[in-house]
Amino acid sequence: MCLICVELAKQAMTPSEGRRALSEMTEKIGASHADEVEKKLKAAEKAAGKKTP
Ligand SMILES: [Zn+2]
Repeated sequence: MCLICVELAKQAMTPSEGRRALSEMTEKIGASHADEVEKKLKAAEKAAGKKTP
């Protein structure tokens, strides 16, 4: 659990903000957690009705 997870859970961060944050945070949170966050971002994007190509 990192800042991005917390903010996404509160819906205080949009998926696109989350992606930007993730690119800055990947080193801090580690590759395995970055993968988890990626999954959460995808789920959040789906929930927001965005289609990822
Ligand atoms: Zn996290």
